[in-house]
Amino acid sequence: MDVRAQVSMVFHLDKCIGCHTCSLACKNLWTDRPGTEYMWWNNVETKPGTGYPTLYEDQDQYHGGWTLEDGKLRLKLGSRPTELVNISFNPRLPTLDDYYEPFTYRYKDLIDARQGNDQPVARPISMITGEDMEIEAGPNWDDDLSGSPIYAANDPNLQKVMNEDERRQFFEMQQLVFFYLPRICNHCLNPSCVAACPTGAIYKRGEDGIVLVSQEKCQGWRMCVSGCPYKKVYFNWEAGKAEKCILCYPRLETGQAPACMHSCVGKIRYLGVLLYDAERIEETASKPDCDLVEAQREIIQDPFDPEVIRQAMARGMDRKVIEAAQRSPVYKYVKQWKLALPLHPEWRTLPMLFYVPPLLPVTATLSQQGHYELDKDFFSSLESARLPIRYLASLFAAGDEAMVVAVYKKLLAGRMFKRAETVGDIPMEKAAQALEDARLTPEEVEDIYRLTALASFDEMFVIPPMLREVAIEMGVDPHEFQEERGAGFVQLPSRGL
Ligand code: SF4
Repeated sequence: MDVRAQVSMVFHLDKCIGCHTCSLACKNLWTDRPGTEYMWWNNVETKPGTGYPTLYEDQDQYHGGWTLEDGKLRLKLGSRPTELVNISFNPRLPTLDDYYEPFTYRYKDLIDARQGNDQPVARPISMITGEDMEIEAGPNWDDDLSGSPIYAANDPNLQKVMNEDERRQFFEMQQLVFFYLPRICNHCLNPSCVAACPTGAIYKRGEDGIVLVSQEKCQGWRMCVSGCPYKKVYFNWEAGKAEKCILCYPRLETGQAPACMHSCVGKIRYLGVLLYDAERIEETASKPDCDLVEAQREIIQDPFDPEVIRQAMARGMDRKVIEAAQRSPVYKYVKQWKLALPLHPEWRTLPMLFYVPPLLPVTATLSQQGHYELDKDFFSSLESARLPIRYLASLFAAGDEAMVVAVYKKLLAGRMFKRAETVGDIPMEKAAQALEDARLTPEEVEDIYRLTALASFDEMFVIPPMLREVAIEMGVDPHEFQEERGAGFVQLPSRGL
């Protein structure tokens, strides 16, 4: 057993309101520079939809992630010789049109406009050429204001799981059924971007599993852009280097949540450390599609297990990291309650960002008063779910519908129980039966409810200690760095190793 620590995330999709505050927090902090205009390390997509860059989920086109050949894991991009042949012309890259041509507005037009009876407008201008342009796409062009269901009909997941007739019927209702899918780099356990890099510039950080690009080593070959099936590595056309989400490691190192998580309005995001067995990565990623989610749960180790603790400490892991793993909200959602699922596990990168799938689009109906209401008969509504379970299974369970139904049964049973308890319009016996069917206890429901609805900042973000020497030095004399870096720390950081 080779126990290591991985900083991991859970996004609770029922809570996302699609405000894009997360994207802007990230943009302002990290990609507000020349060459990064089109990059959204954090983006929020509307689903069903084609995503950003468009159709990134279509691996027949992009060849991202891993595939199984005779039981062996292979990069879908091809072997190293194929990669070398394509090194000067890589045919598996998204173009600027697949992202979108970044734009701003000529705001000066508003100020300089002559007085008149009409409202002055600011013309859109390209951030690449500086010329006037017509906006034809944006970072979430699938959004209801921009084009659904015209674009959403092309969602590769829908194409996979529905025939044309079914899709047509689905889109008659689609106006009422959509949800938001926020995405950042998954900081995968088996990252295909790392495997695809010919120069070894992209790497997984030992102590916390964050995937980073060495700006010194990167030669700009862009194999990582193709290799990542989630298209979360980008090419900075000004610097000629690859860039990606760094999980705000400078913030994590000083005990702060990543900017996208700190700013999230819906409080959908959770961060915590998971312990995993690095010896089982290849075996886990090589499982058949139907076993991938369960195998990914299995590789995550119980941080309370004395043997796991012993092995972790034998490898030099600090006790404070283990304690952080014991309090990890991600461990609870993913392993303990089995409510959070990985996005596209069939790409076999073992993503470490997990999603609690959205309940409302599946079960809610529009009441005559125009409000969304949960269907009275919760469980039978699952079978006739408005957003077909097989679509969600294509997103979160490599097509395994039973896996998604098991999650929904828990979410629904929990709601029934809380409703029976607080509103009283559901008989408690019925709620208790639902809990039993979903294999949940009342205590677990209470814990899930607490973490989902009432959690404090410290419960949502359990950041393992990763302070570096510089932070400790800054604490020795808070006045020493006052002029150049602000006030410094007044107290020694207690989280330091
Ligand atoms: S800030 Fe939070 S609620 Fe708003 S879009 Fe992003 S993830 Fe969703």
